[in-house]
Amino acid sequence: MEIRNVKGTYDLYGNDANQYSYVESLMVAIATIFAFNEIRLPVIEHSELFVRSVGDGSDVVRKEMYTFLDKGNRSITLRPEFTAGIIRSFVQNKLYANADYPVKYFYCGPVFRYDRPQLGRYRQFNQFGVESLCSTSISADVEVITLAYTILSSLGLDGVKIKINSIGDEETRENYKKALKEYFSKYIDNMCEDCKCRYEINPLRILDCKVPEDQEIVKGAPKISSYYSSASKERLEKVLFELDSLEIPYEIDDSLVRGLDYYSEVVFEFHYVSKSGKDYGALGGGGHYDKLIAELGGPSLPGVGFSFGIERVVSVLKDDGLFGEEEMGTYCYVMPMGESVHEYALNVTQTLRLGGLRTEMCYEQAKFSTMFKRALRKNAKYAVIIGEEEMKNNTVQIKDLSTQNQECVKVDEIIKYFDEHAPREYKEEE
Ligand code: AMP
Repeated sequence: MEIRNVKGTYDLYGNDANQYSYVESLMVAIATIFAFNEIRLPVIEHSELFVRSVGDGSDVVRKEMYTFLDKGNRSITLRPEFTAGIIRSFVQNKLYANADYPVKYFYCGPVFRYDRPQLGRYRQFNQFGVESLCSTSISADVEVITLAYTILSSLGLDGVKIKINSIGDEETRENYKKALKEYFSKYIDNMCEDCKCRYEINPLRILDCKVPEDQEIVKGAPKISSYYSSASKERLEKVLFELDSLEIPYEIDDSLVRGLDYYSEVVFEFHYVSKSGKDYGALGGGGHYDKLIAELGGPSLPGVGFSFGIERVVSVLKDDGLFGEEEMGTYCYVMPMGESVHEYALNVTQTLRLGGLRTEMCYEQAKFSTMFKRALRKNAKYAVIIGEEEMKNNTVQIKDLSTQNQECVKVDEIIKYFDEHAPREYKEEE
């Protein structure tokens, strides 16, 4: 029986792979401009890390983690998100010592969640995100939101919606949870099984329920804004003031709570519905956290971060036709005319490649017309034709496939020839 890919995963190749790389590299480039540095972490962590940070009341920990016992009987989990691992590493490696705050990281890579596969939802997907650690300034929150917005705008997405809310400090949340419990106590018996569990562990999570009947009930729930402590209220106002001054558009969504337990104060999500009307869900989201670094053994200082789902970003860009012609055709196609010139052609190919030219060679013995058609199919700009005569004279024939002009060029001068003749856009790519 044919072996197929695991449900909820996908293969990426051809132009799709190029588009993915383009999005990833633009994200990295902009995070670098915002002075974030890369951090790379293991895909596997001790399961306890996620239970303690993401929280045992979250859907991610309750239902979605890929957890297994390794051969040493340790409970190991494939990371379902990055933040916990970053803080684990930050604390373990004492990256906070002698550092100027905030310490700023960006990351990119696969995460794993046993989610129900559907539009915009996979079991292995990729996140790009940042964490800004240990600054007590609200400008750190604003910087992270601004960075995410700049990335989406630079990709060409016009009209991204930033939904923002504050889930307040601990005092706010404790008072609010009491109010929610009181409100939902009238309805909980008729709500979904998940909500019953959320009611016990963390009633804030009920606001995130996607069951339509439950959403109707959620609409009537008390709003967190009535429970803000004065510090939380002031913090949110300051963040909004700075976003206004940077002309970053946002809308307040007082039902936004985010699915992970470590957040406090300001939380946000980035939404975009493609022109065709397809809604893949939030492109990304994040927020501020107060206790996570201390809970994992580091200094008692806050952090803030966001993450994008790269697949969703790629999907909306694709739907809206925002990718240019990405496919990078073969630049030179080397065509040896007969077996006797094969080694000579291999050397010419290597010379071209060392000169930085994207080059392919026809390894099979083939007729000129077959090789020529292949060069065209591969989108080559030049055919490099090699026969006995060329080998004898240490030359090649270079045929420009758009103009059909052909010139005999000495191998020693081949790179110089391309430097002088290469179309401008190619040189810019270099
Ligand atoms: P979260 O940490 O759950 O807020 O996820 C951050 C971002 O990752 C979301 O806004 C999505 O863009 C993306 N994401 C989350 N779950 C999935 C999934 N199952 N498949 C694809 N992307 C996802």
